[in-house]
Amino acid sequence: MRRKLVVGNWKMYGSLESNKKLLEAVVEGLRDYRNADYVICVPHPYLCQAQTILQGTNIAWGGQNMHQYEAGAFTGSVAPHMLTDFGCTHVIIGHSERREMAHESDALIAAKFESAVRARLTPILCVGETREEHEAGKAHEVVGHQLDAVLERVGIANFAKGVLAYEPVWAIGTGKSASPDKAQSMHAFLRYRIAKHDRKAASELRIIYGGSVKVTNAAKLLAQPDIDGALVGSASLVAEQFILICRAAN
Ligand code: PEP
Repeated sequence: MRRKLVVGNWKMYGSLESNKKLLEAVVEGLRDYRNADYVICVPHPYLCQAQTILQGTNIAWGGQNMHQYEAGAFTGSVAPHMLTDFGCTHVIIGHSERREMAHESDALIAAKFESAVRARLTPILCVGETREEHEAGKAHEVVGHQLDAVLERVGIANFAKGVLAYEPVWAIGTGKSASPDKAQSMHAFLRYRIAKHDRKAASELRIIYGGSVKVTNAAKLLAQPDIDGALVGSASLVAEQFILICRAAN
């Protein structure tokens, strides 16, 4: 039985003051909801604050990105051990915003995934097709390719240490989520593809859905047999909304 996982992705939002209110409200709202896992991925400067407020609670925290190397002359970058130094357990890898804006390639994302596992972080690997690819009927091809790039580099045993997030790019930040049926069908496809490498690993891997998950659609999405949780962007910035989505997973 796969335990549900809800991950909040704050992106580049927040301040010391607003984070404190949000984190404290979420801790309070989820205190008695211990049948699912929760992670909040904050901007790097707020990792210490997240650690201070979340340690000892049932909510974990993580980074939204990291460099693939341990150290070096990489101005502005953050190494895997810098995340674990602040108690991170998870890191988002290959978010579509980074694939697009920072031109992160499949090869780079695979290298980051490998480094995250080496640092004992759980990588949350994001895959998903753009609107154009979706409309051209290429969703499976694109997502399959993104998946294979990582699987081929790290192997199924290491891949199984991560979490997979299906995030159709056309659904992120648009208010238009994939329908539960459509999302389920892609999740089943991903699981089937992973099962070709290892059936047990595929049946145990958590595949979460991201893209305009809201209070109004969370329960239906989470009720699908192959949807093991949610990656939540904008709704994770509003305590009441994030709490209700997490409670739906619980
Ligand atoms: C995301 O940032 O990964 C995301 C899914 O955002 P939103 O929930 O706002 O669509």
